[in-house]
Amino acid sequence: MKIVIIGGGAGGLELATYLGHKLGGKGLAEIVLIDQNQTHLWKPLLHEVAAGSLDAEVDALSYRAHATAHGFIFKLGKFSSVDRANRCVELAPVVDEEGFEVLPQRRESYDQLVIAIGSGCNDFNTPGVAQYAQFLEGPKQAEKFHKQLINHFIQLNRKLIDEPTKTLNIAIVGGGATGVELSAELFNAQQLFSLYGLKRVTNEHLRVTLLEAGPRLVPALAEHVSEAVRSELAKLGADIRLNTKVARAEKNAFITGDGEVVSADMMLWAAGVKVPDFIADIEGLETNRINQILVKPTLQTTTDDNIYAIGDCAGYDLGDGRWVPPRAQSAHQMASLAGKNIVRGLKGKPLKDFKYSDHGSLVSLSRYTAIGVLMGNLGKGQSFNVRGWLARMVYISLYRMHQVALHGWIRASLLVIADKINHIVKPRLKLH
Ligand SMILES: Cc1cc2nc3c(=O)[nH]c(=O)nc-3n(C[C@H](O)[C@H](O)[C@H](O)COP(=O)(O)OP(=O)(O)OC[C@H]3O[C@@H](n4cnc5c(N)ncnc54)[C@H](O)[C@@H]3O)c2cc1C
Repeated sequence: MKIVIIGGGAGGLELATYLGHKLGGKGLAEIVLIDQNQTHLWKPLLHEVAAGSLDAEVDALSYRAHATAHGFIFKLGKFSSVDRANRCVELAPVVDEEGFEVLPQRRESYDQLVIAIGSGCNDFNTPGVAQYAQFLEGPKQAEKFHKQLINHFIQLNRKLIDEPTKTLNIAIVGGGATGVELSAELFNAQQLFSLYGLKRVTNEHLRVTLLEAGPRLVPALAEHVSEAVRSELAKLGADIRLNTKVARAEKNAFITGDGEVVSADMMLWAAGVKVPDFIADIEGLETNRINQILVKPTLQTTTDDNIYAIGDCAGYDLGDGRWVPPRAQSAHQMASLAGKNIVRGLKGKPLKDFKYSDHGSLVSLSRYTAIGVLMGNLGKGQSFNVRGWLARMVYISLYRMHQVALHGWIRASLLVIADKINHIVKPRLKLH
């Protein structure tokens, strides 16, 4: 039996680790994880990498090393399609940044397949966006953004000698968690750059404009949370434009529906969620309007019991007009059930149905604060608001739980200690 998992993100890597322990390490099945990158970085940390609060080189996990220690095989590859009739996935050639072909186009056979490739932003085909704006969809993009940010700060620090009113303008489209969290991280980065020698650049020289088409920030959260987030960001100095739809992008500017030009040295598009278009073209898989693969309660796809889909790329209809939201907690819960169902299927036992539990949502505004709503046992089934230190601790614990799922409690605890040591011995911001 060969089980192939495509995508080693929040859901896929937890699943590969689980199946590696349950089946792969015991010789009961061959578990293969395929990812387009060599390392894993938990996606909710991307805005921290972009701002420099987190060093991806330190925090990233090598798939190969992790696979060796956890009973599965890692293969580098960019998934492009599925040949369902022959039970094979198609992998596009892997080419490095210099154009060197690391691996050719190839096929990988499977008995059971799990698609866990996550999602990206949705630019809604807004003209100019793909050409002029950046996206925060993976570690490489986050690192590229970070490098540009440093260079802009260095350049600004020099220019301020002759032009004291000059500003660094960063425009972010999308007032969801990514846009909001990155905005706060940028103000933190400015303060730290100033501490580390770029002294001329003050808060007044950083202009972060957050453009949101809807009437409030973080629309997936309760209204009072949106308002609290807006107020905290405004205090930091962000220029928040609600009900502002971007009609097109040009070099160094977003143009709004009203024709206003929002000039920017750096432009980031962080709006919308969409699974890559090629998924909708895979013959025989049903998808919804954002290309999520429709799954049954067992998390098997609606058209093929040998293919599961989990995480952001899975479309699970909750039956009340809502879909399971594309969040790390959903990916974690789906990985957990898909793992159990695959093992149950091998033992000939009936599969279980997925039940999504919403444990709440939190928005982290860098080291300043975190705001959100928690649900579940602590609140006796009710939701309750959290803010400040407690909210920040719960937010951080989400990542710690992901580390526990990957490494177990002992190693995850050692990683916490290593992080604390790094916090003491390394600069508080990645400066290069
Ligand atoms: C900046 C940011 C902040 C966020 N903050 C939060 C938060 O606070 N709380 C929360 O719950 N959620 C948050 N999210 C959402 C959360 O990150 C996702 O819901 C979660 O990571 C989805 O997990 P996944 O396993 O489905 O996909 P991912 O974690 O995105 O992993 C997908 C994996 O598939 C690989 N892959 C993609 N395409 C291919 C291909 N063609 N071939 C091979 N491999 C491929 C990728 O390299 C990646 O490793 C945030 C997202 C972002 C971008």
